[in-house]
Amino acid sequence: MTDSHLRKMTHRTLPTRKRIALIAHDDKKKEMLEWAARWQPVLAQHELTGTGTTATRITQHLGLPVTAMMSGPLGGDQQIGTLITEQRLDLLIFFWDPFSPQPHDPDIKALLRLAALWNIPVACNATSADFIISSPYLDQECQIAIPDVEDWMSKRSV
Ligand code: PGA
Repeated sequence: MTDSHLRKMTHRTLPTRKRIALIAHDDKKKEMLEWAARWQPVLAQHELTGTGTTATRITQHLGLPVTAMMSGPLGGDQQIGTLITEQRLDLLIFFWDPFSPQPHDPDIKALLRLAALWNIPVACNATSADFIISSPYLDQECQIAIPDVEDWMSKRSV
């Protein structure tokens, strides 16, 4: 048995009004705009944030309020990662580009690691985003398992 099997978990409750991050790489921005337009009435019920250009484009094209972080290559993905770590984000819709290398690849990897670690739902393409946004959990409170921070720190060596 490895250490990871011994890690204690706890729970947090995702609120009914979800805090959703929207990110799209450049070649995926058009797809993100089309997806957000399709789900606009649903998205309007939730609290939206996003990396700088993605957020700004969605607000410009659809009039949806999306809080803009820094642009991704300038650190926006890291800011979204901070929201996840602080339990202030509930869903991540991230249309990343499987064809183009990104200058901020380490930041993207870090963001996806934090999403996996803190167990939040992540969509990497329009179909998975459709599934998540149409889930009955979207406007219900639901519990997710997260690492128990106190237990984690109590087992760290000095
Ligand atoms: P952007 O960043 O929304 O500012 O384009 C997205 C990204 O490249 O991670």
